[in-house]
This record gives sequence, structure tokens and C-alpha cells, in this order.
Amino acid sequence: MAEQVLLYDTTLRDGMQGEGMSLSADEKVRVAHALDELGVHLIEAGFPSSNPKEEALFELLAGESFANAEIAAFGMTRRKDSAAADDPALRLLADCFAPVCTIVGKTWSLHLEKVTRVDPEENLRMIADSVAFLRGTGKRVIYDAEHFFDAWADDSAYALRCLRAAAEAGAENLTLCDTNGATLPAQIAEATATVVAELGDTVQVGIHTHDDAGCGVANSLAAVEQGARLVQGTVNGYGERCGNANLMTILANLQLKLGYDCVAPGQLERLTETAHLIDELCNVSPNPNQPYVGANAFAHKGGMHVAGVNRDARTFEHIDPEQVGADRRLLISELSGKGTVEARAAKTGVALDAEAAARVVERVKELEHRGYHLEAADGSFDLLIRKEAGDYEPLFRLESWRVIVEKQEDGKVQTEATIKIWVGGERFVRTSEGNGPVNALDNALRDAIAETYPHLGDIELVNYKVRILDESKGTGAATRVLLDAGDGSETWGTIGVSENIIEASWEALVDSLEAGMLPARVERGRQPAAPEVSSP
Ligand SMILES: [Zn+2]
Repeated sequence: MAEQVLLYDTTLRDGMQGEGMSLSADEKVRVAHALDELGVHLIEAGFPSSNPKEEALFELLAGESFANAEIAAFGMTRRKDSAAADDPALRLLADCFAPVCTIVGKTWSLHLEKVTRVDPEENLRMIADSVAFLRGTGKRVIYDAEHFFDAWADDSAYALRCLRAAAEAGAENLTLCDTNGATLPAQIAEATATVVAELGDTVQVGIHTHDDAGCGVANSLAAVEQGARLVQGTVNGYGERCGNANLMTILANLQLKLGYDCVAPGQLERLTETAHLIDELCNVSPNPNQPYVGANAFAHKGGMHVAGVNRDARTFEHIDPEQVGADRRLLISELSGKGTVEARAAKTGVALDAEAAARVVERVKELEHRGYHLEAADGSFDLLIRKEAGDYEPLFRLESWRVIVEKQEDGKVQTEATIKIWVGGERFVRTSEGNGPVNALDNALRDAIAETYPHLGDIELVNYKVRILDESKGTGAATRVLLDAGDGSETWGTIGVSENIIEASWEALVDSLEAGMLPARVERGRQPAAPEVSSP
């Protein structure tokens, strides 16, 4: 049987250091589930409670269940000249629900001298005490050796002593970090081979690299080939500066090129969908040239290439795109598979015959061509399925809406929206103010229909994201709006696309309310809340 390599995702911690990266706690939970379904083994969620947002995340994660993945909490070695048990950050790690704790510590004397001003012997005690403290509270511990490869080049004997301190204190994994991304594959291979030879019998070795020299993926593979059995990386290579090693590329390479056992083949087929979904959640434009999952990864243009691929795909393709869930010919989303449509319909209780399913597929393709991206808009997708199944009732009929935005001399901006709609033969005209056009429209619409649909009161908009689709057109470009809404028991995403940002927002807004009013959700909303159970 092929040897296993563990995938350790740090998108939610190191990946969030990237320029412009920001996710709400709910979105982080969605990312975690997508990674779990892909088969990722460990998901590093962040620092338990370094701020209220992280605290909320850990609270949410504690209530989730994952099929494959375990959650790791992140922290650092104890402060100098104090006891580990007295270190508030280590106590938080010990108290949090995550079964695995990853702690980072210094290995490089340059940092000890210039940054932390810690005596090298005290540094060894800090590592050992911190690992031992967490082990003593029942945690499994991964030790991240920060700047390991720079330290190795500087003083390999001391770098090894740091690792030994962590291993002897009970760490189950020592991850060698190329924190500055400075190292090249041959150096990574040499250092990793030595560490594995010295310590590999008693402890697992891991690798964590950054892409500053363009070698993040290559360095990870070089370490695995020398015996590392855990790879840390981020989805699509998010991360500060040039990014972390791209875990999507690493996974495909380990499994398809090097024959390691990382995830099940069916899970690997989720690679493209997962990469795109998480791009959408992070509001990042997918890189069309990204290996394996980019829109161009299996797109063929030249006549000879197309003819060759048609005769035998191996002539111009390095793998079968289906292995990573990519589509060779047309660059369309995973949702355009008929099987996916049928599965989703079944899950949401819609009877969909084969013909209607084919119509949904066609409709998805057409919408994607116009800039819609339904992978992160499950609410809009559910509505689309219902429309094609003939099982769709609009909440209202629109006569018109109008938005006025007024900026005054004193700098104040005021927004007012008026809507005219029909519900069940009755005409409603409502005007509302808001802190912006979308908020004002939302207020006016709810004002008009709240009485007819009381469940709307439970639906809250939790997130609003805007992306410009064709940036070269400047202010004339099309705009894509993604809205996330929730009713306390679940959240769903919806989408709108238009050259007018308010129209795109309106479209997403109406979808989000209609998706929230679908029978299954209203039904769930009516069930009494589970009784509160006090923990022992
Ligand atoms: Zn890092």
C-alpha cells in the first residue's frame, strides 16, 4: 500500500496574513467543511481567542462535526523566565476544544539575538516546557520550528537541539518551517534528510514552506521525498508576501505524480471545486493559470493541440482532468454536471426529471458565461433548480424600485429607497432609509412583505461582497455581488450580476430572501429549539 502523507491546512491562520484576506467566523466554518470534504487531515483554525472573532470561531467549530479532519489550534512557546502553566496564551490552548495544538518556537540564533533576546539555553527550556505542559493536559502537539532552514544554514547543531527538545517533551510532529521562503529544493532536501535520519524513528517530520523564491511546492515535495510525512500549506497558496506553499498543487502532485496516499480518489475529484469555492468565499479572483485547477489548466487553443487531444489526450495533457474534477473543453463549474444537479435537487426535496436536470445544466452554463458563479451561491442554485422543476413561487411581483442617494454639504450621505410591489393581488408601496442603497432596499422590501411572510424576520444578511468582473472597462464593468444570509440554523449564499451595482445587489437580495423562504428552511425554522443541556 502507498505510504500516507498528512495534509495540514493553514489557510485560516497563515493564509489570512495575505493582502486583503478576511473571512467571517461563519465563512471560516464553510472553508473548514470544504477542506474536510476534500480529505484534508488537519485544519489549523488560528489562535483560540486572540480576539473576539477568533473566540467566536472556536465556539462555532466546537459544535461542528467533521468526517476526516481534526482541528488544530495555534500558539507559541511560553514567554521567557516564566512557567508554562502561568502563560495565559498556553492556558487558552490547553482549555480550547481542539485535540491538536501547534506551537511555534525559535530555532535561529539570529532571531534569539536580534528579535526576542532570549538566551539559547532558555529557548530550549521554553520549547520543552511548552510542549510538556500541553501534553500534560492531554493535547497532541505539533512543533513548528520557525526559520528552521535559515537556522540550519547558520548552526545546524543548535537547530537540531531545538527539535530534540520538542520531541523529548512529547511532540508527535516536528514541522520544519522555511518561514522566509528563502531556501531552494536541494537545501531543503539535505536538511530534511538529516533530521529524518536523526529523529525520524521516534517522531514524524513535517514541512511548512513559503513561495518567496517560487519554490514553495517544489520545496514541500523535496521534503516529502526525504521522509517528511506531513505537509502544511494553504488553499491556492494564499499567504503573506508571495504566499504559502499551495496545498492544492501539493496534493495533486503527491497523489498523482508521486503515488502517495493522501485522500481518496473521489475526494481528489473535488479539488477544482474546492479551490474555486474557497476563492469565492475569500473574494479572490481565481487564478486561471493555477496548476490543476485553473480555468486554463486543460484549455486547448491551437488547432494542432485540439486535434491531438481529441485523438489521444495524453499528447498535450499531463493528467486526465477528471482526476482533479476539472473539465477539459469548457471552463464551467462543477455544478454543471447533471449528477450534481440531481443530487442537489434530491437533497433539497425537489422532484426533478432528467429533462429538467438537463435544462438546469444548460442554464448554469449560460449564467456562468455571463459572469455568474454559482459554486458559492447555493441559495441561487436552489432557486434555479426549482424554477426549472416548475416548483417556484416568487414572493412578490415587482412593479418598480427607486433609490435616492443624497450627499449634503456637511458630508452626510443619506439613502432612501422606495419600492412598489404586488403580493397576492395587493399593492404595497414602501419607503425606507438605510445606511446605503442595498440596506435601504432591504428595509423597504421587508417592510412591505414581512406581514405576509413572518419567517423573514429570522433571516439576516450576514455578508456582502462585490467583485468587478471586467476591470479593463473601469466604471462600465460588470459587477458581481455575493450575499450570505442566515436564519440562525443555517446560512446560504446568493448572487447577482449586472453592470449596475445596485441592480446586481437587488438580484442577490431577492434571491437571498426567496431562498430563505424555501419550504425546507421555513419548516426547520418552525421546529422548537433544542433544549439547552448544561455540560457537566
Ligand atoms: Zn508560515
